[in-house]
Amino acid sequence: MSDKRSGSAGAGVNTRLAHIGNDPRSYHGFVNPPVVHASTVLFPDVATMEARSQKYTYGTRATPTTDALCDAFNELEGSAGTILVPSGLAAISIPFLAYLSAGDHALIVDSVYAPCRHFCNTMLKRMGVEVEYYDPEIGAGIEALIRPNTRLVHTEAPGSNTFEMQDIRAISEAAHRHDCVVTMDNTWATPLFFRPLDFGVDVSIHATTKYPSGHSDIVMGSVSANARHWQRLEDTRIAMGICAAPDDSYQMLRGLRTMGIRLEHHQKSTLEIATWLEGHEEVARVLHPALPSFPGHEIWKRDFKGSTGVFSFVLSTDVGNARAKTHAFLDTLRYFGLGYSWGGYESLAVAVNLSDRTIRKGPEDGVVIRLQIGLEDVADLKQDLEAGFAAAATA
Ligand SMILES: *Cc1c(COP(=O)(O)O)cnc(C)c1O
Repeated sequence: MSDKRSGSAGAGVNTRLAHIGNDPRSYHGFVNPPVVHASTVLFPDVATMEARSQKYTYGTRATPTTDALCDAFNELEGSAGTILVPSGLAAISIPFLAYLSAGDHALIVDSVYAPCRHFCNTMLKRMGVEVEYYDPEIGAGIEALIRPNTRLVHTEAPGSNTFEMQDIRAISEAAHRHDCVVTMDNTWATPLFFRPLDFGVDVSIHATTKYPSGHSDIVMGSVSANARHWQRLEDTRIAMGICAAPDDSYQMLRGLRTMGIRLEHHQKSTLEIATWLEGHEEVARVLHPALPSFPGHEIWKRDFKGSTGVFSFVLSTDVGNARAKTHAFLDTLRYFGLGYSWGGYESLAVAVNLSDRTIRKGPEDGVVIRLQIGLEDVADLKQDLEAGFAAAATA
């Protein structure tokens, strides 16, 4: 690293986002890193090859492009190392495969990202890992669920779709008393608003598909580990032949540069719309951790530095008209697209299916609708939602 580069560690978040990752001096002064398309890397002689002393050896291992992105994540997460994987779901499954073996017991939060549950209930079970789901609000009470063979505790806060908060520090401390690995899916907050390793988590997981990418055009995941758990994670990646594509890695680093200012906008617009929805007659409840009315609000206020653009609300329905109202609302929206994922520049709305929950079941007072508030103007988004509510009211 050059002397001119090492100075952004204590700076503000947008300053750091503008300067983390690549080292311009290492590549002729160009501000951005090269996009290195590579399988073969040549060695000058056999001795160098045998000594394993050359920095780059093969395309799956690392390139200057993937290194730049990994360095950026390490600085944001405070981690010893980061691996890049082909999707956010792989950023969950790969560490699970790294730390769990046949005969182990894993504790998974019940408000987990649904495809994670699918992975646990199929692959992990087939491989002889016992999986148990726990209440997101269990806090230090997790200790009562830990058995002699419990190896991993997986957390996600706020929870997918229903946004339950978790006391991450209390859970980590209890888990570490029994030598368990603590993983956290930190996709919602991004490392700008929550740094899991500072709260005792060992391994921080991101669907970088979401805010780091920011433009709905890349699927990728990152897994960042502390020093104790880093080597096993990297060894697992190498053993499985997992690596990230060069163009996607470059675009991800590009996305990080604007993530701070994008999130400021997402946060502000989302709070404005969520607060407005709380007073709406068609809305039973709003599920957003930054609202004082939300049950997990105190934990969010204590531990998180901000909130992002995804939350849910409960659309008031009766058993008889739930389907018609939901369809009318969603089908009427113009700016809110109907589709999966989030974190891009555009708004999205989707009816949430909570049928996989075993502890935190869906609410009885209506249908849960998840919104992603994009970068559009709030007045237009409110008008769009108002048209949806009008259609729902007459459905
Ligand atoms: C979207 C998402 C993932 C998975 O990301 P993909 O890139 O779509 O596989 C994982 N965790 C959470 C919390 C997510 O929202």
